[in-house]
Amino acid sequence: MKDIAESQPTELSTAFDAARAAYLDDPYPSYATRKDRLTRLEQGLLRFADRLEKAMVEDFSHRSLIEVSMSDITLPLGDIRMNRRHLKKWMKPRRYPMVKHMLPASGKVIPQPKGVVGVISPWNFPVYLAIAPIAAAMAAGNRVLLKPSELSPRTSEVLKQMADEVFDPTELSVHLGGPEVAKEFSELPFNHILFTGSTQVGRLVAGAAAKNLTPVTLELGGKSPAIVGLHGDVKKAATRVSHGKTVNAGQVCVSPDYALVPRARVREFAEEVKTTMQQFFGDFATSKDYTAMISERHRQRIRDLVAEAEERGTEVIRVGDATGAEARKEAPVLLIDPPLDLRVMQEEVFGPILSIIPYDTIEEAKRFVAERPSPLALYIFTEDKAERDDWLFNSLAGGVCVNETSFHVGADTMPFGGVGESGMGAYHGHTGFETFSHLKSVFYQSRFSTAFMFNPPTTGFHTRVLALLRKII
Ligand code: NAD
Repeated sequence: MKDIAESQPTELSTAFDAARAAYLDDPYPSYATRKDRLTRLEQGLLRFADRLEKAMVEDFSHRSLIEVSMSDITLPLGDIRMNRRHLKKWMKPRRYPMVKHMLPASGKVIPQPKGVVGVISPWNFPVYLAIAPIAAAMAAGNRVLLKPSELSPRTSEVLKQMADEVFDPTELSVHLGGPEVAKEFSELPFNHILFTGSTQVGRLVAGAAAKNLTPVTLELGGKSPAIVGLHGDVKKAATRVSHGKTVNAGQVCVSPDYALVPRARVREFAEEVKTTMQQFFGDFATSKDYTAMISERHRQRIRDLVAEAEERGTEVIRVGDATGAEARKEAPVLLIDPPLDLRVMQEEVFGPILSIIPYDTIEEAKRFVAERPSPLALYIFTEDKAERDDWLFNSLAGGVCVNETSFHVGADTMPFGGVGESGMGAYHGHTGFETFSHLKSVFYQSRFSTAFMFNPPTTGFHTRVLALLRKII
């Protein structure tokens, strides 16, 4: 007999079923419908902006307001608007060239909604990393369920209020909860899942999705290196790395995790980074621009990484002191040439520690990067074109900035995603629209088709046609 308790639908499966039924009722939402959804998303974000900003500052115990406003309100607004601006063009079936032996047939690709999309988002940019995938999925005509992070609970709650106010639950619904809810969420038979988070949890999501053959886009993390080239401008590199490392106090997936610096310039680079960071923030404890750690556990993890390095005799440069701060702030720390078996060089730092590793030759530096899991981002600082191109073509990373850090994330016209352990698939801009669309090939046969030549019964004529085909194909 069937276990009645087991067969009870959960809140999640009910929401999924409702979204799925709505999709089946309207499998190809019109341009007007999609545009209206994007406009409501934009209006909701603007209407809830103050509440979202306040919630984010509280979730972090302190977060730079300018950063919050830039990364979690302005950037997602840009995503929504870019999708809306290009929507008509992106929705159009596109003519594709036909292979010559099938002419005069023709071919087109129709981008179709996949159906119901699941978005699982992290806490570090809790609005941006929820809204950007939602905008792309909606533009592509899908229904969306969101599972935001439990580590930014106030923000997740406001996101839910926003969705409830602006959307019918079959268009967008938000599901709050921790790993248990997240696990159940990832086991739903979505038509696509976009997960943003750690590599470790990404593996679990991929495993759960595989059971349903649900395609996944995994936006993961990793150790993104900043490389000061042999022909690099050390001062410029130090300034840009200091910026990239201190945005959100290093709690950014594309934050420079460590720096590879020519041996003779390590001291100069470290001094420049220290001075620049101090100029940026002055007193880290009271600076309004310096963000705190998301949780006590996370802060302790950062302290433990530094303590382990110190115990092993690594030179530790403390850029400042935030111990008196009311918020969970942790001032930046530089580690000079730490042993590579330390945890700080084994796991993603995701906080304000920058290890500086000396190198002697470009070959050695390239090997250092290549022998480790492919990073989400790689930053090359050089004034020499040959050195730049050597890194660009001979290293593998999700994305690259030349003489900059992190800015490629906001360059929405380009795809954003990882490779290998830093992720699979990509979104942003047109790539996002295609990620959430099924690109359906349609073959249009011509009135003047020669297909009859392949009809059985086969004769010597078929053999001659085949021989000809083998030459021209
Ligand atoms: P996380 O992997 O711990 O959590 C992310 C989300 O996964 C949360 O919503 C969480 O509830 C959910 N989750 C937890 N257990 C799950 C399970 N078993 N199945 C399904 N979902 C589950 O990551 P985090 O700590 O929130 O974020 C930090 C990580 O995210 C870092 O590694 C960072 O590099 C990465 N990140 C990547 C990007 C990117 O765009 N590539 C952006 C931001 C953060």
